[in-house]
Amino acid sequence: MARLIMEHIHWKKPFKRLWISSLTAKAIKEGFNNLKPGKEYDNLYRAAKSRSEADWLIGFNVSRSLTVKYNDQLSAGRVQTPTLSMMVKREHEINNFKPVPFWILEGKFPGFTAQYVDKNNNTRFFNKDSAEELKGRLMNKPAFIKTVTKKEKREEPPLLYDLTELQREANKRYGFTAQKTLKTIQSLYEFHKAVTYPRTDSRYITDDMVASMDMRLRALPPDYKNYRGEIIKNNFSINSHCVNNSKVTDHHALLPTEEHISSGVLSSDEGKIYNLIVKRFLENFYSPSVYEQVKVSIEIDGERFTASGKTLLHEGWKKIERNPEGGDKLPPLQEGQKFEKFTLEIKSSHTQPPSRYTEATLLTEMEKYNLGTPSTRADIIEKLININYVERKEKSLIPTHKGKQIVDIVVTDLRSPELTSKWEKELEEITRGKKQREDFMKDILLNTKRLVEETLSSDKNYKHDNLLNISCPECGKKLLSVKKKDTLMHVCSDRNCRYRKVVTKLTEQRCATCHKKMEIKETKGGMMFICRICNVHQKVSEFQDKGRVTSRDISRLNRENDEKFRKADNPFAVLKDLIK
Ligand SMILES: [Zn+2]
Ligand SMILES: [Zn+2]
Repeated sequence: MARLIMEHIHWKKPFKRLWISSLTAKAIKEGFNNLKPGKEYDNLYRAAKSRSEADWLIGFNVSRSLTVKYNDQLSAGRVQTPTLSMMVKREHEINNFKPVPFWILEGKFPGFTAQYVDKNNNTRFFNKDSAEELKGRLMNKPAFIKTVTKKEKREEPPLLYDLTELQREANKRYGFTAQKTLKTIQSLYEFHKAVTYPRTDSRYITDDMVASMDMRLRALPPDYKNYRGEIIKNNFSINSHCVNNSKVTDHHALLPTEEHISSGVLSSDEGKIYNLIVKRFLENFYSPSVYEQVKVSIEIDGERFTASGKTLLHEGWKKIERNPEGGDKLPPLQEGQKFEKFTLEIKSSHTQPPSRYTEATLLTEMEKYNLGTPSTRADIIEKLININYVERKEKSLIPTHKGKQIVDIVVTDLRSPELTSKWEKELEEITRGKKQREDFMKDILLNTKRLVEETLSSDKNYKHDNLLNISCPECGKKLLSVKKKDTLMHVCSDRNCRYRKVVTKLTEQRCATCHKKMEIKETKGGMMFICRICNVHQKVSEFQDKGRVTSRDISRLNRENDEKFRKADNPFAVLKDLIK
């Protein structure tokens, strides 16, 4: 923001930059004592500016050309459309999916179950008869353990959080939307100063930060005092896999700050997010957890059955969450051991369609294809929902009919993430000073022109969701039903005709029964006030007879409403009034 203003006023003098990753008094003081030359951030500024200009150029122009071409308010964008397209593609896969039945053969042994595996390591029979046949052949044959293999597996704690990983985790655990997590953490950062800069894409810290860990630990609320005590007493240090200078580009991973926080001041949502960040932080002071993995192979008449189990040997970092996923434990087993008593069972099942995206899985895909930045991904998802391209049903995200259509009519290049992904790589090169911003923008401009031309010359068909079976009184073409704020209108589907008519409109007139606002509607019997809740219809003229409402009152009310809507629609209108 400051850089845009400086550019606008042609600032030529040198300047310094305050660069901090948390808003505590200590961090701000240190930041001011250690101001960075502004020049160091030139490339970052150029890349950020190029990114937003590219978004505007492509978003504005392609959206506008779609809107004009298909006469409906349509929107497309550099990040928005490839993201939507992934969801639509998944939806097609789900709709075209035909479940295939299959069967598996299980051996029930004392204390554990093993599964039949064929020569090619397949467990599924796609033909029930062959499963039955094998079962019949093996039923009364002796079984013995051919091999028992034991392996020790070490599991490191997961890396610290960046924003996207935190959004994923909060969605999985608490069903938080990406936007809710962003809002919550923003207040933890700005208001409570409890966590470091949230919009980060790094899961690492730099080596000069290691010394600050002790202070952060000591500032944690009493809820964590046991872990804190243990860490400080034993002098545990932060896991070195989190420390990597080359992987901290602008901001480091999310951490608790050195600000003392009492957990009582946080809201329930803030508490959940704070707890995730602190626990992940604490986990990285503990040793890896260690399992023993046991694999058993059993032979019956030359055929192979396998079973596996997991035993926790050392809890390590998993003690923080106290949910070491157990896996099945196997009883003590030895090679050569024979089984006299066992049964064989056939179980039927069928192949599963791919599942719909949740915000957690969608964020993973967006990250994989370089779609958006950590701070914009939540907005992109919300935008797709607000413009009615995607619906949220519980945790799932489902493209709407309109969303599917837009992917169908939009130019091919915006349908796949490749082009956006390529641009994102070039923006990274600008950040690292390896590419000129001018070259990038030239390429974007050329592409914008091409995308607009392709959109306008497309021969795709678009079907309005809101097409009515009513003809326009002026040109005879079909009318569209358009709802804007509190007004329902009929608008001619031919842009050039310009016919439009208000059908119903919410007024300030209150219903006598429920006191909710009533709609005004023109009917054969004249103008009516209607309460949708009580289904009460009252002639406007009745109010006029009683001297309560005149038609002038109504038009005045409507004018006032319009004024209100105009302001609500346009924050600058409010600003203008203030300046007057
Ligand atoms: Zn018309
Ligand atoms: Zn009512």
